[in-house]
Amino acid sequence: MTMPALTRRSALFAAAALPFAPALLPRAAHASAEMMGATMPSFNRFKLGGFEVTTLLGGTRALENPQETFGLNATPEEFAALSEANFIPADRSQNFFTPTVVNTGAELVLFDTGLAAEGIVAALAAAGYTPDQVDVVVLTHMHGDHIGGVAGDAGVTFPNARYVTGAVEHNHWSSAGNEGFDTKVAPLSEQTTLLDDGGAVVSGITAMAAFGHSPGHMAYMLESDGQQLAIIADTANHYVWSLQKPDWEVRFDMDKAAAAATRKALFGMLAADRVPFVGYHMPFPGVGYAEAMGDGFRYVPVSYQMMLNG
Ligand SMILES: [Zn+2]
Repeated sequence: MTMPALTRRSALFAAAALPFAPALLPRAAHASAEMMGATMPSFNRFKLGGFEVTTLLGGTRALENPQETFGLNATPEEFAALSEANFIPADRSQNFFTPTVVNTGAELVLFDTGLAAEGIVAALAAAGYTPDQVDVVVLTHMHGDHIGGVAGDAGVTFPNARYVTGAVEHNHWSSAGNEGFDTKVAPLSEQTTLLDDGGAVVSGITAMAAFGHSPGHMAYMLESDGQQLAIIADTANHYVWSLQKPDWEVRFDMDKAAAAATRKALFGMLAADRVPFVGYHMPFPGVGYAEAMGDGFRYVPVSYQMMLNG
């Protein structure tokens, strides 16, 4: 009887292993490493000119039925086809919450604060920072997953910080009767600077109107020593569905048409200028490029580009 499945090479290996087979048995019994559970890195730091930029994993959670959030005006067939083409399931997704901290050399600037005070404090600690080191907190917009960490049971989270946010955004929420804004952000008005499109947070960090997701949602452009990086916040909330189909309606976009127009304009600019960006809800570490593709954009996650920044 022949054994056609065995190549000559594997037959030789099998024969060679035979004399050692008894000795392998007790060793195998001792080599049972415990299952460790899946892991994620908790922060990612890179240089941008004279700045240090650190994206923080503030949290991550799975979402069921993502089409109900990211593809309101797509057909189930379209949603399934685009998902399959990008090697992700159509019936579940994973969301990420990614505050970013920028050390300009002169000031430590935190963009957004996650869902809760304990979360942002832990995320900063993992990256080597304490809340009292934060000089400036930039709030891109007033949704709960961005302002949640501004204050907690112990009071304000960042005792030495001043705050910067969009004027349109702040004015909208001031009269919206929103509990999160009223209890966490409104009391900080004295320490808050309101910016319009083109306003500066600090030297090298400039506000860009990106309205639609919320009434005064702002993105920010960082520039240091000729290198640029955009903090796009929630301009897009999913790296496939919202980038490749900027017109697909997103449940959390308060003005859906304006949000789509902003996606096309902002990612169009970033794609043309080949500027990388950090997206608050992009897969961690949340840094990538947009490449123009069809009537939308392909998300190109960074690999080692930032490691070459010196
Ligand atoms: Zn968000």
